Amino acid sequence: LSLVNPGVKQLRPYQAGKPVSELQRELGLQHVVKLASNENPLGLSEKVKTALEAELNDLVRYPDANGYYLKSRLAELNSVTTQQITLGNGSNDVLEILARTFVSDQDEVIFSQHAFVVYPLVTQAIGAKPVAVPAVDYGHDLDGMAAAITDKTKMIFIANPNNPTGTFLTTAAIKAFLDKVPQSVIVVLDEAYYEYVPEGERAPSVEWIKEYPNLVISRTFSKAYGLAGLRAGYAVSHEGIADVLNRIRQPFNMNSLSLKAAEVVLDDHAYLQKAVEVNAHGMKQLTDFCEGAGFNYIPSYGNFLTIEVGPDAEKLYDELLHEGVIVRPVTGYELPNHLRVSIGLPAENEAFIKAMKKLRG
Ligand code: PMP
Repeated sequence: LSLVNPGVKQLRPYQAGKPVSELQRELGLQHVVKLASNENPLGLSEKVKTALEAELNDLVRYPDANGYYLKSRLAELNSVTTQQITLGNGSNDVLEILARTFVSDQDEVIFSQHAFVVYPLVTQAIGAKPVAVPAVDYGHDLDGMAAAITDKTKMIFIANPNNPTGTFLTTAAIKAFLDKVPQSVIVVLDEAYYEYVPEGERAPSVEWIKEYPNLVISRTFSKAYGLAGLRAGYAVSHEGIADVLNRIRQPFNMNSLSLKAAEVVLDDHAYLQKAVEVNAHGMKQLTDFCEGAGFNYIPSYGNFLTIEVGPDAEKLYDELLHEGVIVRPVTGYELPNHLRVSIGLPAENEAFIKAMKKLRG
């Protein structure tokens, strides 16, 4: 361990849950509802299933290292050039490539308290200094983040909506922040939950790249597009940035199945629309329950709701598990009194509500 870089020594392991089938066996449960990882409850798009089956014949070949078709479609949909796109094995990969490209062990990386766990992870893996700025009302304190910039700051991560809080920054707030950040600092705007934001409230973030060449937008196919297991994400940036990201990126970081699935699901408009509708319905189901039962929650723009359940959150998590409902404790995010519940299908949400009523009713 003495050989390991000091940042890496401080890393805590990613808290992944046990496989659902294993939990089910251990706890002797007939049925388990998983509302823990902000996945899409609809199941895979039927169009994707068909396309993947056809793709199986080609698995003997290497994937297309440049992701020609997916990049072309993404460029078209975002009104950018293909040279502005970097593909990732999930957006986590994109975040890591970004950190490795721009940050060294002498540098500082800023993010908010309660920020997505991968930001400190990729920062510390390099040996750079993570600077977590205290949150305001669980969300980003953009003034505080701007004030935290020093001449060592290389990168700022902002998730909008944020995970695990679901908080959302307005277009005006982000724009004002970008004006304050020197162009020598890369701002990564992580829009993993972008599709769940009502269209009228979404920031024209990709358009801003012209004005702020230090801005990088990160998106994923894991949430509203329902491809979490396939690992597909991408960044949109200035061509100069994408050029270096693509040099650092492993040539086959997206495999043939994830490339095909992402390309096909982008045109499955009915699937996306249904995902967004099911989410809105489920969100209301959960917020209605919280309001009726007197639980505070953090209003969420994502596909999850973070609920204040009190100081015994970890215990409640365990009790819910024994009722066959898996949610996510967020103690590691400095939210020891909350549980994060992903929005499921109506019956899955109901299973959570029923278990909560039984345990805390
Ligand atoms: N950013 C945020 C804010 C997230 O919540 C997640 C998923 N939990 C990701 C990025 C990464 O998702 P993926 O690697 O599956 O694209």
